[in-house]
Amino acid sequence: MARWLIKLIFLAALGFGFYHIAFRDAPDDFDLAASRNELLAANMPSRAGQPGIRVLIADALDYATLTLNGKVHMRAVTMGMATREGEFTQSVAVDVSPTGNGIKVGADHYVRTRIRPLGSQPLRLSWKNGSQDVNLSLPHEIELYAVHVYQGGERKPKVRILARLPLEEYLYGVVAGEVPTSWPLEALRAQAVASRTYAYFEIRSRHNEEYDVHAGTRSQVWRPSMAVEPPVRRAVDSTQGIVVTEKNALIKTFFHSECGGFTADARLVFTKTPILALSGVRCPRCANPANKPTAWSATYSRQEIAARLRKAGRFKQGGEIRNLQALDQNGNPMGRRLGRAVTIEITLAGGSGATLRIPANEFRMAMGADRKNLSSTYLTIDGGGEARITFSGLGWGHGVGLCQNGAAFAADKLGYGFLDILALYYPGSKPVRLWGSGQ
Ligand SMILES: [Zn+2]
Repeated sequence: MARWLIKLIFLAALGFGFYHIAFRDAPDDFDLAASRNELLAANMPSRAGQPGIRVLIADALDYATLTLNGKVHMRAVTMGMATREGEFTQSVAVDVSPTGNGIKVGADHYVRTRIRPLGSQPLRLSWKNGSQDVNLSLPHEIELYAVHVYQGGERKPKVRILARLPLEEYLYGVVAGEVPTSWPLEALRAQAVASRTYAYFEIRSRHNEEYDVHAGTRSQVWRPSMAVEPPVRRAVDSTQGIVVTEKNALIKTFFHSECGGFTADARLVFTKTPILALSGVRCPRCANPANKPTAWSATYSRQEIAARLRKAGRFKQGGEIRNLQALDQNGNPMGRRLGRAVTIEITLAGGSGATLRIPANEFRMAMGADRKNLSSTYLTIDGGGEARITFSGLGWGHGVGLCQNGAAFAADKLGYGFLDILALYYPGSKPVRLWGSGQ
């Protein structure tokens, strides 16, 4: 009887927009005696030895909408800490916005809050990215809080949204987001191990940070889903807990779409310390023209190159470009030879002959690292001193570590198992299982 009465009050309250009443539908003993520090702890193990991961899904938002349905659990930090559980008998959309010192969810203020769906209904989030609407359905716990960013010299509060979930569950969304699920199982398994190692490396090295990985290409693409496809589930579950190591340390297992022929040495792209497993190898797929590696080309005026570099903060001294050439890993000009460019050397106009050297991958990022611009650093430059300069090359991505198209080829055409694929692209590495068991 009392329960019905509460539900009635709750529904009536919703009608008046008192969203916060929703979470009053929970018995008092759900309040936890956990400290604020525990709630804010950067990384808590989630399940039986398996680490949890914090994924940044949206940042610096003015506004977001959260849609709740079904049974929901909420942990919130206000002045103290409270947990509440509520059941929504219908879909309820609430506004999320930053306040000076916290966040407003519906009518309630929090320092930060975590919301977790308990039933079959996911949390649904929507926000605007520029003029684009972004919609996301998440069966996982989310954490909402305010961050401050400088905009036009002013410090402004904004909304940040993280997802928090067990690492193995996160990997379902990464394997599905990074490669076609129709690929051979051994290639999916190799991807699962590479993605697990990359994520765990980030978890360990970023435990003092607010989050571990970005949801997009800045880390690895994460596409969460309510329904995990069977091959994805199999690839992740059968390699559960396996990571790739060198000298008993985790490797930051970079990977990319297609290398173009040879993978790049990480030292010349991302790191300073030599890592044998990331020193670059010949790719059996891309090095063979018969396998038709992806060809690309892009042409720019010298002014346009200068403008793009300036915008990326890579051409601060200004001036005009006279000549532009690619250098290989020994610092030698590559001329018209197609290969892995390590540095782009720019000679400035004006008689001084001053040169500017930019790491090739940073040059690629500055020019636009998409399919219309510089798809890869496996390239050649044509017309370095002409009015218009053409870059053409093979492959797609930064070129370090595992070549995804190469992995699919090795599984499909060469009969490689996932351990063979990992040994190919991370030479000398050792796979170890840190938790779980293969199923
Ligand atoms: Zn390749």
